[in-house]
Amino acid sequence: MNILITGGNGYIGSHTYVSLREQFPHAQLVIADNLSNSTVKALDNLKKIVQEEILFHNIDICHEEILEDLFSKHNFDAIIHFAGFKAVGESVDNPLKYYNNNLIGTLNLVKLCLKYDVKKFVFSSSATVYGDRVSPIVESLELLPTSNPYGETKAMCERILMDVAAINPEFSVSILRYFNPVGAHESGMIGEAANGMPNNLMPYITKVAKGELRALNVFGGDYPTIDGTGVRDYIHVMDLAEGHAAALAHLKPGTHIYNLGTGKGTSVLQLVDTFQRVNGVRIPYEIVGRRNGDLASVFADVSKAERELQWQAKRTIECMCRDAWNFEKNYVLI
Ligand code: NAD
Ligand code: UDP
Repeated sequence: MNILITGGNGYIGSHTYVSLREQFPHAQLVIADNLSNSTVKALDNLKKIVQEEILFHNIDICHEEILEDLFSKHNFDAIIHFAGFKAVGESVDNPLKYYNNNLIGTLNLVKLCLKYDVKKFVFSSSATVYGDRVSPIVESLELLPTSNPYGETKAMCERILMDVAAINPEFSVSILRYFNPVGAHESGMIGEAANGMPNNLMPYITKVAKGELRALNVFGGDYPTIDGTGVRDYIHVMDLAEGHAAALAHLKPGTHIYNLGTGKGTSVLQLVDTFQRVNGVRIPYEIVGRRNGDLASVFADVSKAERELQWQAKRTIECMCRDAWNFEKNYVLI
């Protein structure tokens, strides 16, 4: 099998490379990534983990001709498509940057799949496409408008893939809706390298632990949840990575949508407590007002992925906190 991993040098893509190598030892894995949100150092560390040379192409998938050149040289059997921008706040400030990168990249890939007869496609989507729903969330729900352009690009890419699969009976699409990926490879060599001010909870906590930020602002202490703080379904990035290998192994014609989460909710304060306990560090925090657009409680119904992909997230919140800190405390931006 010959697999193209777009965005394969990024956070989730690099961990997925490791899982794919384990699951498909003889596959040819090719990364296309323009390093817009990842570094050469991450690639070097990935090489050390998998102990092999990596077929890496520094290309922008929005450049159709350059991407076609890659398709014409490799006989791809499958695409795992991570490449895209993902910062919700930035997408509100600069919607065209998001619509352009996330949509054009996906359109180019799908066009080339049809032209070069690539039949398997796995797409990185997000729980954000569900909008405001009561948890646990099941895949069969109609999508609601999201509160930001980033979420809209994910919903639009899903739609494009479904429509193309509907008229190309052999095109097999797996849409993976991630809940909240956190943690890092156990080696601590690859992880979520947050540049600038982190927006998400776990990268913020690790920066506070490192002393780079003074205290965590907990957004809202009056939600109808176990302790008043927001509840999310955190999933270890290696479990998520293994979910991609499972999705690829079980691909079948048509479009198939899977939630990748643990099915369990954890509040902000529960996550902070666990982080402090397993890592022996203190996380000062302060409860402040709610963040605009935030939902009280979001967690997945994961029974479809368990049933059809024979996959289940195995790693605990303790493991997520330990591995996130193990990566961050050694991480130096290059
Ligand atoms: P990331 O930014 O770490 O990785 C994305 C990679 O794609 C980066 O290495 C970047 O350099 C590359 N890239 C971006 N645009 C490109 C382009 N036009 N051409 C080539 N390479 C390009 O992000 P991630 O957290 O690994 O997320 C991967 C995918 O999963 C994204 O599509 C994201 O929207 C989706 N997702 C992420 C989360 C999350 O919390 N991390 C949650 C849900 C969905
Ligand atoms: N959160 C917080 N402080 C932060 C970042 C996030 O209290 O600095 C809360 C947020 O309100 C939500 C949870 O942590 O309840 C997860 O937020 P994140 O942005 O990581 O994920 P998302 O809200 O996109 O699911």
